[in-house]
Amino acid sequence: MTDSHAARGIDTSRPHSARMYDYYLGGKDHFEIDTKAAETVAAAYPGIFVCARENRAFMHRATRVLAQEHGIRQWLDIGTGIPTEPNLHQVAQSVVPDARVVYADNDPLVLKYAERLMRSTAEGRTMYIEADVNEPETLLEAPELAEVLDLNRPVALSLNALMHFVTDAQDPYGIVNRLLDALPSGSALALSHCTPDFDPPTWEKVTDIYTSAGTPVQFRSQKDVARFFDGLDLLDPGIAVGHRWRPGASPEDGSVAEQPTDAEVSLWTGVGIKP
Ligand code: SAH
Repeated sequence: MTDSHAARGIDTSRPHSARMYDYYLGGKDHFEIDTKAAETVAAAYPGIFVCARENRAFMHRATRVLAQEHGIRQWLDIGTGIPTEPNLHQVAQSVVPDARVVYADNDPLVLKYAERLMRSTAEGRTMYIEADVNEPETLLEAPELAEVLDLNRPVALSLNALMHFVTDAQDPYGIVNRLLDALPSGSALALSHCTPDFDPPTWEKVTDIYTSAGTPVQFRSQKDVARFFDGLDLLDPGIAVGHRWRPGASPEDGSVAEQPTDAEVSLWTGVGIKP
């Protein structure tokens, strides 16, 4: 690790999920150690590039649907990742220019690029908080959050490709409930989550690669992903494989010529509204 990285709390001694994901998306904000780990994942699961792309595309469509059809004007996006255009606020503000978005991630490298997440429209507002989803109250009580979000009005909680980094021992369902409890009726949960359902042996390998690199993961079945939405009204089509959730060209993604397979995508996705 270089001194300047160490000074900023950036650990280059082991691969990090945010930087490996940046590699899958074709970004440039990762280190050699991340490339190696990501290539090991890609050797076991060549679909990872499709999975990452479809995950972003789901986020684009879910954000657009919530803004256009459900009146959402505020988002709390946890596990934001290294900025990749378009970021959530860019999609939201293209529909509602005064949209307000708070981003949070626990990887210091994301903080380094946070400026890219703050390029809000003049009418809207964006904010970045370094925070851990495992401490929801600390996150919700952050003064920066209160500056941007009005928790008396609906907020969409966006947890994309995040909750598989929270194992059952860390109480993932309790965490999501605590976050949703702080939000009023009309709020939403948009969530994507990797799954072993379509190819269990491959996902066992992926689990081993992440876990042995120091990042515990727990990929979940459709039934277990559905549990995150308990008590919410699920929008059609329910818990769907990423590319099957409201398919159709979104301006961000254009039309994809070739349909991926469910095993390539291996993501359960859904959007629910708090009654
Ligand atoms: N949401 C983005 C990025 C997903 S990659 C997208 O879907 O495109 C997963 C991100 O979650 C990484 O940036 C990683 O740093 C972050 N993350 C992992 N564990 C976390 C935790 N406990 N708290 C907050 N963020 C976390």
